[in-house]
Amino acid sequence: MFTPLAGRSVVVTGASKGIGKGIAGVFARAGARVLVVARDEAAVRAAADELNRLDGEVSALSGDVTDPDSCARIAAVAQERHGGIDVLCANAGVFPERRLADMTAKDIDEVLGINLKGTMLPVTACLPALRRSGRGRVVITSSITGPITGFPGWTHYGASKAGQLGFMRTAAIELAPMGITVNAVLPGNILTEGLRDMGEDYLRQMSASIPQKRLGSVEDIGNAALFLATEEAGYITGQTLVIDGGQVLPESLDAV
Ligand code: NAP
Repeated sequence: MFTPLAGRSVVVTGASKGIGKGIAGVFARAGARVLVVARDEAAVRAAADELNRLDGEVSALSGDVTDPDSCARIAAVAQERHGGIDVLCANAGVFPERRLADMTAKDIDEVLGINLKGTMLPVTACLPALRRSGRGRVVITSSITGPITGFPGWTHYGASKAGQLGFMRTAAIELAPMGITVNAVLPGNILTEGLRDMGEDYLRQMSASIPQKRLGSVEDIGNAALFLATEEAGYITGQTLVIDGGQVLPESLDAV
């Protein structure tokens, strides 16, 4: 039996939809007070309203993880509304497809800016509050793409997701004396609005390559994040948890 997370203050970036909204929902169901963040104010408010109808205490904030001032505001609002921050889920990310032959510096800046810098800035902004918590938890949403696998069209994305793990490992060492753990969830293909935009053919092809023969749900990722945020996971830091229905396991197509 895990110690309940009721009343804990949780910040989830990129939570107006998809995995972030799923993570926020799982924490809210566990009784946490959750601040959901994304750039589109109407969308993030709608997500908070919907999650509040289910249960839990969820409020919204429009914020951009690439902007240091915006990240400082995220930390300040969580402090104001919840009296501190116990858990930061650095989840905001984008995955635009672009082959190397067509890739521009702007494409690279966008993906590294949101996915990598946009992981590091919220962590630095929330650090004083996480330290005061005494049991601070950072859960980064990385991916199997980059750290473990590759897929044409996602060189910049793979680099950003592998980069998050480089950040995580040293951050875990630096923050250990402050009682803060830093871990990463590595989703496989999770059925989100963002993934749906890839089209039916992509979804079919991906399901076929997964031993469990289904795409993951946002709750599959939320449950893993929740576990890493528990008291009982306090001795786990700088580690990755793959949640992919076995997708990275097959040696060849014949294996599935
Ligand atoms: P999604 O459905 O497209 O949602 C992305 C969320 O991030 C939205 O709430 C978006 O809202 C927000 N966001 C984007 N840029 C932002 C910024 N600069 N500042 C603040 N929020 C921002 O994507 P998803 O599929 O849930 O992916 C979420 C995370 O999971 C990403 O890090 C992604 O790399 C990772 N992941 C996803 C999958 C998958 O299968 N879906 C697999 C592996 C890893 P706004 O645009 O309004 O800001």
